[in-house]
Amino acid sequence: MTKPRALVIGGSVGGLFAANMLRSTGWDATVFERNAEELTGRGAGISTHPQLHDMMRRLGIAFDDSMAIGVSRIVFLNRGGDAYDTRDTARVMSSWGRVFRSLRDLLPPENYRLGKTLLRIEQDADGVTAIFADGTRERGDLLVGADGGRSTVRAQFLPDHQPDYAGYVAWRAMLDERDVPPAIHAQLFENYSYCLPPGELFLAYPVPGRNNETQAGQRAYNIVWYRPTAPEHLADLCIDASGKSHGSSIPPPLIRPDVIASIKATARALVAPQVAEIFERDPHPFFQPIFDLASPRIVFGRVALLGDAAFVARPHPGAGTTKGAMDAAKLADCIAALGLDDGLARYEREQCAFGSGVVALGRREGAYLSDQLKPRAERREQAESWPIEDLIHSHNTRSAALQAVLDKSLQAAG
Ligand SMILES: Cc1cc2nc3c(=O)[nH]c(=O)nc-3n(C[C@H](O)[C@H](O)[C@H](O)COP(=O)(O)OP(=O)(O)OC[C@H]3O[C@@H](n4cnc5c(N)ncnc54)[C@H](O)[C@@H]3O)c2cc1C
Repeated sequence: MTKPRALVIGGSVGGLFAANMLRSTGWDATVFERNAEELTGRGAGISTHPQLHDMMRRLGIAFDDSMAIGVSRIVFLNRGGDAYDTRDTARVMSSWGRVFRSLRDLLPPENYRLGKTLLRIEQDADGVTAIFADGTRERGDLLVGADGGRSTVRAQFLPDHQPDYAGYVAWRAMLDERDVPPAIHAQLFENYSYCLPPGELFLAYPVPGRNNETQAGQRAYNIVWYRPTAPEHLADLCIDASGKSHGSSIPPPLIRPDVIASIKATARALVAPQVAEIFERDPHPFFQPIFDLASPRIVFGRVALLGDAAFVARPHPGAGTTKGAMDAAKLADCIAALGLDDGLARYEREQCAFGSGVVALGRREGAYLSDQLKPRAERREQAESWPIEDLIHSHNTRSAALQAVLDKSLQAAG
């Protein structure tokens, strides 16, 4: 018997989870990725949750020491570089590239096509057709839109729903472990370090190395620095050296040298010297504007949205990849249990509730940062300073908070 065919648009982690989960339940699934070259994570670190580890195990990928690095201590550093508070934690830090590679290796090469940019979709009673920029068409029984926060698939069905700018950006930097000066390495490499300049949030922690190594000496040190940034300032940051404006986000290699020089000087002025030095040593720090989006619907006939294409959560819960994995598993399970039509209806009910909950979690954690651009009188109580106890609580209860959102969404879906 011929297997039903799924067309998966987007070849990042969400698309790979979707294709692998659908294949595990009897589908033929092919991924179509617009980039002509293999995606790379440029070492971007991600925090993970037990729910993600479970999803990977379900696909036969052991979430072992080769996947991630455990961090057991949180340290708060003041502007002078002294630790003024230290707590226990249990976080598991991996990298986008490590997760991507293990999912990509599971998929037969012929089921992953590069250089395929989706333009639009047509549907009829018997199937769905994807139309690509190179003039080709592909026919399937189901189309999964896993094409990220600026999804072409979502834009076709929900043209009025675009991600909202949260009012801050995340500056990111990374340094190979061997390039971290020994004195700084001994002091902080193994910790999850926080610096709290007024109105900002600076995080630094170890992650797997650029080629996904987790052994001591070959890892990397990752920085994520959230900075309130007014829309007009963001627009300026997104103008390249030739004067061309890139709207509200700019490819990292095009960030102007004066912008890089200025953020490095600001790091020196605002955060602990050890972490400022690491930030400065990265020749190519880059920024990502933070957006979020809650979609009212995620199923349109034979088309289902998944991962960031469905809901974009702010990164604070560290759950974007986990949510993509859980969406994919739910999609495959609902269709396997209920058939295509009822399965998609069930998927939409459950994952809309789940996605909304994860977006709300991210908004709650990022409220302090968003508040910084508001007039003082309109800010919430906590906006003057970020209470450490709140930060530690949310830091240490993220997986439980995610599970609570999941449980609540299952109840809401009935
Ligand atoms: C600062 C920051 C920190 C983060 N930290 C974490 C963390 O610690 N933990 C975590 O789990 N998550 C984290 N995330 C979120 C995580 O990166 C995303 O949630 C995740 O990458 C979403 O995966 P996705 O596959 O849904 O979308 P994406 O990764 O955006 O992939 C979409 C893919 O679709 C392709 N595509 C787009 N349009 C088309 C088209 N028309 N045709 C074909 N292909 C197309 C794109 O090229 C891309 O490869 C963070 C995000 C940010 C911004």
